[in-house]
Amino acid sequence: MSDNRYRMVDRQLVRRGISDRNVLDAMRDVAREAFVDPGFEAFAYEDEPLPIGEGQTISQPYIVALMIEAAGVKPGDKVLEVGTGSGYAAAVMAGIAKSVYTIERHAALEQGARGRFEKLGFDNIELRVGDGTKGWPEAAPFDAIIVAAGASKAPQRLMDQLDIGGRLVIPVGAEARSQRLLKITRVSGTQFEEEDLGGVRFVPLIGG
Ligand code: SAM
Repeated sequence: MSDNRYRMVDRQLVRRGISDRNVLDAMRDVAREAFVDPGFEAFAYEDEPLPIGEGQTISQPYIVALMIEAAGVKPGDKVLEVGTGSGYAAAVMAGIAKSVYTIERHAALEQGARGRFEKLGFDNIELRVGDGTKGWPEAAPFDAIIVAAGASKAPQRLMDQLDIGGRLVIPVGAEARSQRLLKITRVSGTQFEEEDLGGVRFVPLIGG
């Protein structure tokens, strides 16, 4: 499987312009087959999202890499993820950052991810079941926040939980499965800068 993983990083990430060494190394390290549903292991390194139950998906590897690179996740960072899903993206970020906080609204998915983190020995990931649009105020401020589901607009509560210089990466759009991937950087206490990183298709962010 690690041959498939190295090939995935080369063909799907490097060739499409992902260049952050931390992201590429972390994606070479994390066994994606441990995060897909039983029976889907053979497809773990395909260039597509896969079903993970509860009508949700584990995102395409390229999208995971693109979001983590865009959020500038680096060693020493404290990161928040909204939408734990399988736990794969959180595991990749935990390979780079100091700590990862991740929130999932489906208890069954949160439990699945928790079991995987324990089995694989991750000790820098905190999980919670709940509405991620509220963030994790007790652990704020965050250096980076990644939202893995499409929102109608960026939740102000998440923007307020960014540190100065912190980055929020979030798919935003009026349609259910067609969004623009936005990077919102907190440049001061009250000022935010927005960058459009292109079109994406995510399951909807519920709540807020
Ligand atoms: N990052 C995940 C992975 O690596 O497998 C993929 C996430 S999946 C595309 C989006 C997830 O967001 C789903 O599991 C969904 O249940 C969750 N979700 C949607 N709205 C949410 C909310 N308000 N709070 C927390 N999780 C939410």
